[in-house]
Amino acid sequence: MKDEKHFETRVIHEGYESSQHYDSLAPPLYQTSTYTFANAKQGENRFAGEEEGYIYSRLGNPTVGILEKRMASLEGGEAALAFGSGMAAVSAVLFSLTKSGDHILCSQGVYGCTFGLLELLNQKFAINHDFSAMDSEEEIRAKIKDNTACIYVETPINPTMQLIDLQMIAKVAKEKGIPVVVDNTFCSPYLQRPLELGCDIVIHSATKYIGGHGDVIAGIVVGSQEKMSEIRMTTQKDIGGIISPFDSWLLLRGLKTLAVRLDRHCDSADKIAGLLATHPAVEQVIYPGRQDHPQHEIMKKQMKKPGGMISFIIKGSKEDAQKFMDDLELIKIAVSLGDAETLIQHPATMTHAVVPEEARVKMGITDTLLRLSVGLESTEDIWNDLEQALNKVKFPSDVM
Ligand SMILES: *Cc1c(COP(=O)(O)O)cnc(C)c1O
Repeated sequence: MKDEKHFETRVIHEGYESSQHYDSLAPPLYQTSTYTFANAKQGENRFAGEEEGYIYSRLGNPTVGILEKRMASLEGGEAALAFGSGMAAVSAVLFSLTKSGDHILCSQGVYGCTFGLLELLNQKFAINHDFSAMDSEEEIRAKIKDNTACIYVETPINPTMQLIDLQMIAKVAKEKGIPVVVDNTFCSPYLQRPLELGCDIVIHSATKYIGGHGDVIAGIVVGSQEKMSEIRMTTQKDIGGIISPFDSWLLLRGLKTLAVRLDRHCDSADKIAGLLATHPAVEQVIYPGRQDHPQHEIMKKQMKKPGGMISFIIKGSKEDAQKFMDDLELIKIAVSLGDAETLIQHPATMTHAVVPEEARVKMGITDTLLRLSVGLESTEDIWNDLEQALNKVKFPSDVM
């Protein structure tokens, strides 16, 4: 292990050496598509891999490289790759790990577009999948097939906020030699580091907490040097879902405040979750920091703090839930999460609308479930807004 600084220091410094960049304090933006070779022989040598150096920005760029080094360090991995979106990252990983006829074992809930990608892989390439509650070793063992090529997990699961014990998954997967992929978007490496718990590949939608300011769409993958090099030269290079230098630059800027922001997101979410639970119009609050969360013990084991995301079920009907959202003034109705602004969305008709109703209900995504991404505003202002809109909820609306 190298001489590692603390996480809060590495979010600011890791992967960047100012003396290599005209002493610029901020990492420079190398907004270039290609690189000039001194002569033809140098071009030949670079293509042959006999000389270090950049070739073309789809294969590597200095600004992107700083981001990748920093993310690898923060997740405790050997190497990282940056992508143009979280879904470009998810697809590059799944295309790399699977071939026709393979099987993917997946957590009970996944991001809506990941669900869409699994369907696509099934329809076009006969790569099928099963969902699993992943709540015991036996259950996972029973679901693993001879052709299972990877286990794909989200924890906390979006938007139901169920947690999965990553050490347990890693243990069972190791017995069978199956790689475990974790979408760590909801936590960021500040709260949870799946590689340190024995998992193999971490994926982020960097659009969310990594960027943190609602102005970039991007993805990150972290894992072993060997696997990352393979993806770089295959499903990243040849499918081409790369990130732009400018978006990398914005992520480097956002990352500097990751630890500070996450502390605040978590502290505020904890307060708001407690207040929501006291309101008579709220049926249930699902927040891993609460004692009544079914996997509260797993949270304590594998997460530094319970996160900035809260799901809650409002009393009444779908229309009541939608009216409640419309009554909010400060809180914005928007998908995405992890921004400075507090955002609310209705998973059944928004992020998870692509999931067929039966599967959706099985996942626990009902018409009155709402997902709140607690922002960085004053918690008093956030609560005042929620409370005034909750006070307008007339329930139970189904009683004639
Ligand atoms: C947003 C999100 C994605 C997809 O990322 P994009 O950057 O929007 O492509 C994947 N997984 C989770 C958990 C997400 O929240």
